[in-house]
Amino acid sequence: MSTIVAVSTPNAVGGIAVIRISGDNSLDVAEKIFKPSGDRRIKEMAGYTCCYGIAHDNGERLDDCILTVFRAPHSYTGEDVVEISCHGGIYVTRQILRTALKNGAENAGAGEFTKRAYLNGKLDLTQAEAVMDIISAKGERELKMAENLREGSAFRKAKECSGKLMKILGDLAAWADYPEEDIPEVQPENLCRELKEIRKELLSLIENYDSGRIIREGVSAVIVGRPNVGKSTLFNCLSGCERSIVTDIAGTTRDVVEESVKIGDIVLRLADTAGIRDTDDIIEGIGVDIAEKMIYSSELVIAVFDGNSPLTEDDLNLIKKIDNKKTVAVINKSDLGIYPEISEIEKYIEHTVYLSAKESSGIEKLQSAIEAVFEINENSFLQPAVANERQKKCIDNALVCVESAVSALENGELLDAVNVLIDEAEQYLLSLTGEKVTDAVVDEVFSRFCVGK
Ligand code: GDP
Repeated sequence: MSTIVAVSTPNAVGGIAVIRISGDNSLDVAEKIFKPSGDRRIKEMAGYTCCYGIAHDNGERLDDCILTVFRAPHSYTGEDVVEISCHGGIYVTRQILRTALKNGAENAGAGEFTKRAYLNGKLDLTQAEAVMDIISAKGERELKMAENLREGSAFRKAKECSGKLMKILGDLAAWADYPEEDIPEVQPENLCRELKEIRKELLSLIENYDSGRIIREGVSAVIVGRPNVGKSTLFNCLSGCERSIVTDIAGTTRDVVEESVKIGDIVLRLADTAGIRDTDDIIEGIGVDIAEKMIYSSELVIAVFDGNSPLTEDDLNLIKKIDNKKTVAVINKSDLGIYPEISEIEKYIEHTVYLSAKESSGIEKLQSAIEAVFEINENSFLQPAVANERQKKCIDNALVCVESAVSALENGELLDAVNVLIDEAEQYLLSLTGEKVTDAVVDEVFSRFCVGK
């Protein structure tokens, strides 16, 4: 395979930048562009050793650097790898990169180092995808989840199921192809039991997919409520800046203001809307229409009520509108005291929290309530689970086949038909792990990576 090079650190000024070279000729390229101090020769360096020296372009000094050698197969990619750590200026880093390109290396494509690790059997496809998740993790639980995958948890589970399917296929083939060998007949009831067991295990792999997706991708959420209950104040308190207009005059947030905010480990793609109430003001009316549409398109509704005044007709109408939506009710202005009858909201909305947006107190209760709405808990992230739509689709497809095989058996259909379905399920599991996958899928997986990883 060709020898590739890329800057593996961000394209920004920093203390150190790393230029990574991987491939059969990486040590040759390094010899041409790097002079170790003393009379060390890069080609004679053992794996996992480093040396100090000068990166140069045909003798012209570029920077003093540290060079580290990793010998195949004991490297990230499984190939000979050289990493040059230079001073982290954008210009100097680019110069070293260009010099490596002039001396026989080729530009690495997006994710090409990890793709090579996969092609060289260092990682399976789910682990390679987890590398990307580790890079983009924005919080502790997201990182834990990615690390869990990187350790191969989903791979092992899928592999276990695939092994069981393979064994069933073997039994069926042996029984059908060698009748004279006195091989015990495959009992449909046993087969059905085994398949149901596999179905259970596959289901457990996608069970926490939605909570995982919420931690990874965030949730679209909308703040609604009648005017003056404190929606903008809550929005500003969550986003930490004064973007919405906060006033005492009802109906001042007429447009939709959007912001990504983080509550605990959950990112909310949050929209603050015009207060929802009956209004004759045309412009305000447009804002109200948008707010109502956003209720339908958002995954989470944060419905705000004024805790210091009785429930109004507008509040009750809102409660009706958000019926069937995943909702957290925020009873705001708790600093002013709570109007006793307001707790009636708890009858309508299961997850209700009391807080003061103005004083930023009680926000942690909102976080717990959101987690409860999406059934997120610590354990969700420690179970083996698939991490993205590609992986989920493979399991979904495998499940359809296993379920059809179970029904076929229960309906007394021929084992030949069952065999075809089990084989198909097996193919989906092999494509999940990357053991049997098209080049197009591999390219698609790695196209999402950054260059240098
Ligand atoms: P919106 O129309 O629902 O967006 O309401 P605003 O956020 O503009 O707030 C309306 C008024 O209520 C403003 O005067 C806020 O300062 C006040 N307010 C909002 N939240 C609180 C709170 O938690 N406690 C108190 N005491 N006042 C609040």
